[in-house]
Amino acid sequence: MPELPEVETVRRGLDQHLVGRRISAVQVGRERVVRRTSAQELIAGLTGAQVTSAERRGKYLICPLDTGKSLMIHLRMSGQLLSGAPGGIRPAHTHVVLDLHDGTQMWFVDPRTFGEMVVYGDAAEIPELLRLGRDPLHDPITASVLSAMWQSRSQGLKSFLLDQRFIAGIGNIYSDEIAHRARLHPLTPVGKISSAGRFRVAAAITDVLEAAVAAGGSTLGDAQYVDLLGHSGSYQDRHRVYGRTGQRCVTCDRSRIERITVAQRSTHLCRTCQPLTRMARRSASAIKE
Ligand SMILES: [Zn+2]
Repeated sequence: MPELPEVETVRRGLDQHLVGRRISAVQVGRERVVRRTSAQELIAGLTGAQVTSAERRGKYLICPLDTGKSLMIHLRMSGQLLSGAPGGIRPAHTHVVLDLHDGTQMWFVDPRTFGEMVVYGDAAEIPELLRLGRDPLHDPITASVLSAMWQSRSQGLKSFLLDQRFIAGIGNIYSDEIAHRARLHPLTPVGKISSAGRFRVAAAITDVLEAAVAAGGSTLGDAQYVDLLGHSGSYQDRHRVYGRTGQRCVTCDRSRIERITVAQRSTHLCRTCQPLTRMARRSASAIKE
């Protein structure tokens, strides 16, 4: 699933290939992509509109239009936005085609169809946007920000990092990489993390996300995530734990990466670099796979 670095890479692509263009026609193939309203509403909301900017909040893409409304796009599990040309060979599962006045097209492709596009006028129409926490690229996460968020919370570190109400944009890949680089077990209750640990987590959030954005995100084996021109990211080559189950840890060169289940999500860690303290063990229920 695309996370903040992948969505930010797509946003930068939209800056180049969609912003400033007027949409001359819209085709919707699969109604599920426009399920929040309808195909008719998406077509009516976009036809003739000019995209004035491309913004991102967490994993949500928001494109304000010159009509006063905005287009929200969420890629969810497998959505892709591709810049194309009329007559170009569209991938299977292209559900929305935007014709742009400069003669290009924008394609929304989504094999699993969990992604969506919607034109909205009032932020209240997308209630989850109002509940999103801090975006770590716009408002850096510092140790003191974490202290305020963590006060006496018993939530485990991984579950906290995935909780979009606190920090928006981190998913399964980057939560594992951040916990590893902060040398903390993903189940460590955040309220019990030391002051030094808070600094490590804050630094890891910034370092991992910035490096991943610079690398154009992570493209996993399924190659579902690509940028607007169809190019893969390269941050997967720098993963230390995610997707490396059974491989020797590149940080300590001693243990092998293990995969456990935390909050129903597969979670990757090194037991040497990220020991499970007695305190974390008491408050956690990890199910070993
Ligand atoms: Zn290690």
